[in-house]
Amino acid sequence: IKDMRLDKFLAESGLGSRSEVKILLKKGRVTVAGEVQRDGRFQVDKNSRQVAFDGEILDYQEYYYYLLNKPQGLVSATKDNLFKTVVQLLSEKDFREDIFPVGRLDKNTEGLLILTNDGALGHDLTQPKKHVEKEYFARIDGKVTDEIVNKFAEGLTLKNGEKARPGELFIENIYEGESQSGWISEIRVIIHEGKFHQVKRMFEAVEMYVLYLKRIRMGNLALDSDLALGAYRPLTTEEIENLK
Ligand code: URA
Repeated sequence: IKDMRLDKFLAESGLGSRSEVKILLKKGRVTVAGEVQRDGRFQVDKNSRQVAFDGEILDYQEYYYYLLNKPQGLVSATKDNLFKTVVQLLSEKDFREDIFPVGRLDKNTEGLLILTNDGALGHDLTQPKKHVEKEYFARIDGKVTDEIVNKFAEGLTLKNGEKARPGELFIENIYEGESQSGWISEIRVIIHEGKFHQVKRMFEAVEMYVLYLKRIRMGNLALDSDLALGAYRPLTTEEIENLK
């Protein structure tokens, strides 16, 4: 099935913008089934592996999926007037206009963020109805008690009166440290929804303050321990299937 214009195919294969692609076509560097094709309007079958650039067959890939370890200081958006955005971490080779972050992490939150241009997947994963689990590691000012663990398990009422669904809270470590109270608790928390500032607001509801927050898992997908802050990698085919 000839289902795509050649110029679109070339642009989406990463050869450049439509106008850049037009120049490459003019120069006769593109062939379809072995024949030089200079007209961008020419229709091709995008999966036929018949389009070549400088003699190299171009494989068509429509969707891209990356797992990013978001550093602090960047906003989870595609464009921002003030701050660097997470998509700006993509190299020139990987950057595409249509890639966006799936859901949001606060500017000062670190960790797992999926970047993709698959709008349907992005929509699905952030659907409140889907209840995709999200797991966070956090440092909290003060001593997190079993009573607080129980309150999370019951489902808290946030300061604005909204109900939060039950969340599983695990105390990992409590130590003396530099904070208002002089104590720091390291915890993990699993939540099943993604309200704005949800983790911070859950702790606020029990009069505690989040000093540091990092997302470590979303659904089946966990953050690799060896992926540096600001680094990203493509998802594997299996990981993509597991997300759907
Ligand atoms: N909860 C928050 O408060 N912030 C985030 O970035 C993610 C979850």
